[in-house]
Amino acid sequence: MAVGVETSLGEVLGGKGATKLRAGLDLRTVGDLLHHYPRRYQSQDALTDLASLSVGDEVTVLAEVRSVDVRPYRSRRGWIVSAVIADSSGGTLEVTWFNQKWRADKLKRGQRGLFAGQVGEYRGKRQLTFPEFVLLNDQGEPSGRDRRRTMERFTRSLIPVYPASRSVASWDVMNGVAHVLTVLDRIPDPVPEAVRRAHGLPDLDTALRMMHQPDTYADVAAARRRLTWDEAFVLQVELARRRTVANSRPAIPRPVRPDGLLAEFDSRLPFALTAGQRSVGAEILADLARPHPMLRLLEGEVGSGKTVVALRAMLAVVDAGGQAVLLAPTEVLAQQHFRTVSALLGDLGRAGELGGAPFGTRIAVLTGSQGAAARREALLEAASGAAGIVIGTHALLQDTVQFADLGLVVVDEQHRFGVEQRDALRWKADTPPHVLVMTATPIPRTVAMTVYGDLETSVLRELPAGRAPIRTTLVPSAEKPGWLERVWERLREEVAAGRQAYVVCSRIGESPSDPDAVAPPQRVVGSLEPDTGTDTESEDGGRTAGVLATHHWLHTEVLPDLRVGLLHGRMSAEDKDAVMRGFAEGEYGVLVATTVIEVGVDVPNATVMVVLDADRFGVSQLHQLRGRVGRGDHEGLCLLESMVAPGAPARARLAAVQSTLDGFELARLDLEQRREGDVLGAVQAGRHSRLRLLSLRRDEELIALAREEARRLVAEDPSLAHHPDLAEAVQRMIGEDRAAFLEKA
Ligand code: ADP
Ligand code: MG
Repeated sequence: MAVGVETSLGEVLGGKGATKLRAGLDLRTVGDLLHHYPRRYQSQDALTDLASLSVGDEVTVLAEVRSVDVRPYRSRRGWIVSAVIADSSGGTLEVTWFNQKWRADKLKRGQRGLFAGQVGEYRGKRQLTFPEFVLLNDQGEPSGRDRRRTMERFTRSLIPVYPASRSVASWDVMNGVAHVLTVLDRIPDPVPEAVRRAHGLPDLDTALRMMHQPDTYADVAAARRRLTWDEAFVLQVELARRRTVANSRPAIPRPVRPDGLLAEFDSRLPFALTAGQRSVGAEILADLARPHPMLRLLEGEVGSGKTVVALRAMLAVVDAGGQAVLLAPTEVLAQQHFRTVSALLGDLGRAGELGGAPFGTRIAVLTGSQGAAARREALLEAASGAAGIVIGTHALLQDTVQFADLGLVVVDEQHRFGVEQRDALRWKADTPPHVLVMTATPIPRTVAMTVYGDLETSVLRELPAGRAPIRTTLVPSAEKPGWLERVWERLREEVAAGRQAYVVCSRIGESPSDPDAVAPPQRVVGSLEPDTGTDTESEDGGRTAGVLATHHWLHTEVLPDLRVGLLHGRMSAEDKDAVMRGFAEGEYGVLVATTVIEVGVDVPNATVMVVLDADRFGVSQLHQLRGRVGRGDHEGLCLLESMVAPGAPARARLAAVQSTLDGFELARLDLEQRREGDVLGAVQAGRHSRLRLLSLRRDEELIALAREEARRLVAEDPSLAHHPDLAEAVQRMIGEDRAAFLEKA
């Protein structure tokens, strides 16, 4: 029988062993098992540090039996066997079995063994209940009957310790692996030999054996590096391949016309473009003129002026006879874009209307909440081609939306959309349209190379000139309760000077009197508890400021003389739009809001951003919120209010935001605090995903190298016809669902 990675475990291990691995750890094939890597290794020379275990952990520990005790139950028949096991520093752990008296005969004082189970607690003492165990003799070999169960592998100096579960012990996995490795045919290697040689990598077969059965920690390191390389490389090959496929598809070139709308728009712009806007703009216009679809990511610092860059690209496409779509993640943003674009274009956007420029175009807006008549009108303008620019939300993705000649898709704030949504719009054109995606937040390089790795990237780092920097101040209400009053005074001064302010709360609350989402003075020391590092929208205990209660309180008690607006996600789209428009027009001095204003909102007259319970927000989110002010000529002020105690992790986060305005640096920090899977979500699909070792935090250099090699290889062999093993690995990584999806796209 030929045994390969696709072979089912049942065929190799037999029904019983396979069922166990499948039920307990969801391991089905030889490949699944071989990629179930040890979590760590236990050196035979050193006992496990028992003090480092925490309650709830599934552990396998190497320890010495200190004492054994057998006693009957007090009130009924039966026996309790308990033993104390110890590590070399004297740390101990109790192990207990009920009604398994024979266990006592096997355990001898002074004997070493491996014990596996879940760490529990009984009367304040940590213990293992019903652990499985294997005793080892002086040579480190399993003694007696255990010998057959565990085979010869314990004789190695490093014992692999696998992620285990209640029903599958670490040595069950080890046994399975050992057996598989003896019958396995040589594993084909997806990484070509030339690449391996260039980077000093062992072949895959060797690496897998070293990972599971290392002799030294140097073996482990070499194996890990190689297996991490695999993950990065296979992913980068897939991304390079996607880029090549996109690049070989035809698109309608949309070269710039010197006398069109774009030229007219540029000549009317009320400000000079920044150097970054000009150079990124030139890159995009060059892409648009090519006969292949553009696939570009525009990464920009918050407030760097991405909208104007996008609009210029859209105008170039309209000049060339096509239509452009701007997809926004929220209704608030879609409406804002519509207003901004309409204002920037003026009569250029009102073709066919009284006072419209005769050579201009039209702008349509399409959102889920608009009325039937407005919607019909927008659909018609899109389908007839009358609207050169169509702005909207997810509503744009529906089947009823059609275009006469869709030439460009711009996706704003891409992180709010999945890749699938980005691609869905491409279907609305006969020939693939050009695609520009924009991220609101700067992203770390490793994220750009992986999650967005199939796109070319442009970066806008600089802010328009003349922007006064934003000052960020921490308001530690627990230590300085008086400061918050000063904050409200400051708002009053600002509004008196003709400016506006935001007050952001982390929660909405049921009503203004919701006991959990209160006005700031009603918050209690409960929220002084150190932050547990969880997310912002958490509905857990700690009383935080609610948007309803805070609005009511500010409006009636603190700032009764000011117009205080309210904005949150439970309001209807129409109400949201009305409030947002009112705020943009200066109707409200203060806007109390949830994070619905987090991304994109642009009201240059707003100068103060107060974030209540700022500890509830992530680093990038705070940077985004702060970016809502300092957008005009007046200096911006961001006040991060928090009740958490100094020294809590959340305070360090706030200090970081306070210390720099560099979004790229903050993005790196944010990445460190998030779980890998959350970030990689977009490229990681399903059970078969093989991204186990690769870390966006640690592996920047490795990812860059793998990317270079992948690009080179795909340039030479785009279909991977000469690299069948690699092609297969790519297929496995993306999984079948995803493969089917990519075929379609
Ligand atoms: P973001 O990149 O965060 O999406 P926006 O596109 O909303 O930023 O731009 C922020 C603000 O800066 C807007 O009010 C916009 O009109 C203004 N702006 C854009 N480019 C320039 C420029 N070159 N000079 C001055 N103001 C600009
Ligand atoms: Mg924006």
